[in-house]
Amino acid sequence: MLSTGVSRRLDRLGRVVLPIELRRTLHWVHGTPVGFFTDADHLVLRKHATDCLFCEEGDVEESTWRYHGAYVCPRCREALRTLAQADPLSPMEPVEG
Ligand SMILES: [Zn+2]
Repeated sequence: MLSTGVSRRLDRLGRVVLPIELRRTLHWVHGTPVGFFTDADHLVLRKHATDCLFCEEGDVEESTWRYHGAYVCPRCREALRTLAQADPLSPMEPVEG
């Protein structure tokens, strides 16, 4: 983990402003969803990915599945279902190229 060299103090309500330099670097604009993750005594902020894991379709719908924190859109979900029904015992093979 890299230090940005920037620190801020929490206000009385526990808020902190993310420095504009970091927001610009990360392309975090107004409305960007941010997820909070902890690891021991660390807090990590990460852009909350709402795009489909497979096709990267953005702005997922309510019908989108979440699996281990990743989103899968209805179209990719159906493709996976078809693939699993065709041969459920066959492991997926890596794509070369
Ligand atoms: Zn998809």
